[in-house]
Amino acid sequence: MDKTTIKTNQKFKELKKLVLKKARIKKGTAADNIKLGKMGSWAMLFGNCNWYIPELDVTVRGTCGEFCKGCFNPENPKCSACYVAKSYVKYTKRNEDGTVGDILNNKCSVKLGHAYRTIAMTMFRKDLLLSLDSQLTNMKNKLGVIRINESGEFTCYEDLAMWCELAKRHSETIFYVYTKNYKAVRKALINAIVPANLYINISIWHEYGIEEYLEMKDHPQIRAFCLVDKDWTTEKYYSKGIEITSMCGAYDSAGKMNHAVTCDKCKKCFSSCNKCVGCFEH
Ligand code: SF4
Ligand code: SF4
Repeated sequence: MDKTTIKTNQKFKELKKLVLKKARIKKGTAADNIKLGKMGSWAMLFGNCNWYIPELDVTVRGTCGEFCKGCFNPENPKCSACYVAKSYVKYTKRNEDGTVGDILNNKCSVKLGHAYRTIAMTMFRKDLLLSLDSQLTNMKNKLGVIRINESGEFTCYEDLAMWCELAKRHSETIFYVYTKNYKAVRKALINAIVPANLYINISIWHEYGIEEYLEMKDHPQIRAFCLVDKDWTTEKYYSKGIEITSMCGAYDSAGKMNHAVTCDKCKKCFSSCNKCVGCFEH
């Protein structure tokens, strides 16, 4: 082995050790994501920007850009509908887990927690499963509910398969996710790996996702979460076969947040009732 290879291997080992230590399920404090309330969550880098992380001297790619139809605008990330992108623009001060700043010119370093989780999931998935398993096993106050991918997306079937395995090992906890990676979900259903404590919300954005939801909706763990706006009303969705049985109370029709409603109390997105929920915001 030459010197460069040894140095690269060493760097890789160090990165793996650090990332696995830091890639943690966030314990919900209402201050972080008011809508979630008190629950656990896992957030990764959004879109498909190449994020340079100076603290780690690595470049990491966002996980959802390939699957977003509408919420992420690769031409101009600042003008994305994505709430994470909006918050990166809005909050420019350094947080305890990293900095936020100029996304468009990638001058900022990103929230480090998001970067650790993305690197762990995309580079060290097998070790990550062991790490998450032990995080949950050793947690004194169990989380009750964990939202997977508060930002970001399953990059491939194996990501989803990892969460299915973790959920299977922790049947005391409910897991839920919104996803546009319909292909990964279809494969998970065919392989019958989705446990009863993991709810998968097919994210429907106008015409995108309708066909896939209708194809998979009879599975008990499958639900739908639909963006409702002036063009795509509940009536229009109904005409396409989507029966929205309830609206998310966390937003009003102008897209303004109603802080009185939080996911931990509402529970619609991780239960078997109201299988198809509409929302005025994404
Ligand atoms: S809204 Fe979600 S899927 Fe869309 S860009 Fe943001 S994090 Fe990705
Ligand atoms: S419907 Fe309920 S659980 Fe789903 S996003 Fe809205 S507040 Fe959260």
